Amino acid sequence: MRTYRSDGGDAAMVRLETGEDLYDGLAQAVTDLGFRAGTVQVIGAVSNLVLGYYEQSAKEYRTLEPEGHWEIAAGLGNVSMKDGEPFLHLHVVATGEDGSAVGGHLKPGSTVFAAEAYLRALGGDPPVREPDGETGLDLWG
Ligand code: ZN
Repeated sequence: MRTYRSDGGDAAMVRLETGEDLYDGLAQAVTDLGFRAGTVQVIGAVSNLVLGYYEQSAKEYRTLEPEGHWEIAAGLGNVSMKDGEPFLHLHVVATGEDGSAVGGHLKPGSTVFAAEAYLRALGGDPPVREPDGETGLDLWG
């Protein structure tokens, strides 16, 4: 991972290395930067892709692993606090060789081919994730 800090440490560009886990690498960047709240953007490519889809009626994530190599056409996420630690929540839209798109909640397991991210810290009291009975998700309380 290569980190290029900016704005007094409140922002950074990050390049993940080939072979790193996309989710885990970005979550590590968040931890290394000391962010407790913020935004994350990422573009790049992965050699495999692992997404989640939240089945609302069952209140659980299903895992999607579409075949092939993928461009990360857009990745958008946020950082907030969960169980006392910074937590990365990231969604991606990825495109395959014919340009068609898949997307969803990024789970660990996607292998970076190349990835360039922008992370920006936000000040103030960070949102804290708490269990939400209606959705079954950990949402900002
Ligand atoms: Zn999500």
